[in-house]
Amino acid sequence: MPKPILKIALDVPLDRLFDYLSGGLHVQIGQRVLVPFGRRSQIGIVMGFADTSDFAIEKLKPITQAFADELPIDAQTLNLIKFSADYYQYPFGQALLSALPARLRQIAPAVSRKQFAYGLTALGQTIAVEKIPKRQMVTQRVFAALQASETLTEAELDAISSSARKAAKQLVAQGWASSQQVQATIKTLTMPPAIEPQLNDEQTLAVERITQEAQTFKAWLLHGITGSGKTEVYIRLMQHVLAEKDAQILVLVPEINLTPQLEARFRSRLPNYPLVSLHSNLSESERLHHWQLAQSGAAKIIIGTRLSIFTPLPNLKLIIIDEEHDSSYKQQDSMRYHARDIALVRAQRLKIPVVLGSATPALESWHNATANLNALQASKYGLLSLNQRAVTAAQLPMIECIDTTKVNLQHGLTPQLIAALKLRLARKEQSLLFINRRGYSPVLLCAACHWIAPCTRCSARLVVHLGQRKLRCHHCGHEQKIPLQCPSCGDADLHPTGHGTQRLEQTLAQLLPTARIARVDRDSISRKNALVEILDKVNNQEIDILVGTQMLAKGHDFPNLTLVGVIDTDSALHSPDFRASERLFAQLMQVAGRAGRADKAGQVIIQTQFPDHELFNALRTQDYVSYANALLLEREQVQFPPYVFTALIRAEANDFALVQAFLQHAFTLARSMTNAVLVYDPVRPQMERLKGMERGHVLLQATHRPALQHLLKPLVSQLRAHKVAAKVRWAVDVNPLEF
Ligand code: ADP
Ligand code: ZN
Ligand code: ZN
Repeated sequence: MPKPILKIALDVPLDRLFDYLSGGLHVQIGQRVLVPFGRRSQIGIVMGFADTSDFAIEKLKPITQAFADELPIDAQTLNLIKFSADYYQYPFGQALLSALPARLRQIAPAVSRKQFAYGLTALGQTIAVEKIPKRQMVTQRVFAALQASETLTEAELDAISSSARKAAKQLVAQGWASSQQVQATIKTLTMPPAIEPQLNDEQTLAVERITQEAQTFKAWLLHGITGSGKTEVYIRLMQHVLAEKDAQILVLVPEINLTPQLEARFRSRLPNYPLVSLHSNLSESERLHHWQLAQSGAAKIIIGTRLSIFTPLPNLKLIIIDEEHDSSYKQQDSMRYHARDIALVRAQRLKIPVVLGSATPALESWHNATANLNALQASKYGLLSLNQRAVTAAQLPMIECIDTTKVNLQHGLTPQLIAALKLRLARKEQSLLFINRRGYSPVLLCAACHWIAPCTRCSARLVVHLGQRKLRCHHCGHEQKIPLQCPSCGDADLHPTGHGTQRLEQTLAQLLPTARIARVDRDSISRKNALVEILDKVNNQEIDILVGTQMLAKGHDFPNLTLVGVIDTDSALHSPDFRASERLFAQLMQVAGRAGRADKAGQVIIQTQFPDHELFNALRTQDYVSYANALLLEREQVQFPPYVFTALIRAEANDFALVQAFLQHAFTLARSMTNAVLVYDPVRPQMERLKGMERGHVLLQATHRPALQHLLKPLVSQLRAHKVAAKVRWAVDVNPLEF
């Protein structure tokens, strides 16, 4: 007799499972089911079976439906999510359901996906590929591919280029191609892999060391500047691991839509292994489809953003985390997990290697790779370094700082930078200007009384968006018209003050009227393919100057780009956030790495008021190692992470008195529960008010991670039970990145 009671995880904010009767339906652990809950129906996941319940059996309700055609979620995945939910103090059911593709949270069977397949029409078959203008390179390639094979699916088009679908649609519009719906499957292209370069000594060593221990758990930190050939190392490791039948590899990337080149490179170098991507830019049905291909084992290479760390992968043999220092691996709401930390746990449980790659590793990782555990035991991670650029001709860029207090600025630009831009235009080379502020200018200032336009809902200033004649809050999205008069003194002399991407773009257009300029920031890149289109234009030499935020810093490879200008990043030098300088250094190393990737030498010009700051000194010599060691020494002296382990109890409410009452309670409770954890008084974060909510937090700090975990579990369950807790929005943030 099977046990009659089902233990089911539901997407509700209670940290427990719910009891139901099977109702005669056959289910397995990990199966998706539909259950009555209150007056509604909910999707749940079966977690176990029991003979007894804490509730009277006659009161239990039967489940209404079991989605028996779907593969159940495997025990390993369930256990990993359970571990995460416990570690980050988040209700398991919510953690589990939110790790699934949206389609699996909806009350409907997860049907397999249809997609379009393209083929040439009778007319199209009579056309020669030369008929397509040379400029339309992608269209030409798509057309040639259609001539070579009968049909191409959308997935196959993606393998040609990220804009290939658009090109195919254009061919349909011309009457040269037609499309029809077919069942989505996964195929690989039958083409020879792209030629592979001969590894240099450092790369060879890295590949050898990791492959020697490919059958065990070990974390490897692959430290190498941009262009040193880390991706090439990943590819060789992937080839090695995939040679084993059925093996799967998970590659985590910070934001996949910003790195289309990486996916294209994997596809061209590993063409025989089915590859899927998992990220939020996919349609819901694409995401489900890709997830199912991963879960069934059909997909061998899975490239995904942080959430994909929870994807069921029956044969996972290697995890690679590219740009491991990137803060987008940390989720900043609901379950505040860090995908890198979860990856380490997952790899350890599966006894497989995990490779963390970066030019500027997170200090936590650097510490783990360099600090000796004790006299007998070396560091926790293996450290592998690539110290040269892989292409021998490619030299490191020359980095110089220009003291903005010593020269006359023209609309915020130094004469040196302007001259360098002109030189690039004359040489038909490309430039990139990096400024980490979108909009026209960061503040609107009254010249008479020094009033500054504030956001009423946040502790922040409104940013001027001149094009739309709006003031906009970048924290809550609040928007208003630009006032004609100062609301404080009535004066009409209101000035946009300071520079953002829009203003820089405008200034450049005035200074360099012949230059073709493109702006890349969240305002200009709201459409799905906008970035890809701009990057294509840059590659086709249709752009001379790129202006943009950190969106531009990531992994794009432009061989003809030889100048990088950095405009005013000084505020980060003096930020109260102790991680600000670590982050700025990483960002600037990354943008600097954009200059001079091929055979042309690069130049980087940094405009700053503090040219002698140690951060810039380290940057000039591209010396991550000594800068990281210096920062670590500081952290050790003041006892900051990674030398201590922290957690925040965050709270917010319309009324600060409620926040205070809750945090005071949390503070007193925590203090009464342990001596092993330092409990700080409630304080307000730097952003005191956000989206109309008053905020505060209590910081918990311990020298040993287990002490913190021992406190958190009982603390959180007591807090949940307390009546003040219902009046505020509160959350626990373990290993917080932002304060
Ligand atoms: P990273 O990922 O560290 O930025 P990549 O792997 O992208 O570096 O390498 C930078 C460039 O050098 C790429 O164009 C790559 O094809 C090339 N490359 C990498 N390794 C080698 C090598 N051993 N010999 C020649 N070229 C290489
Ligand atoms: Zn005024
Ligand atoms: Zn706001």
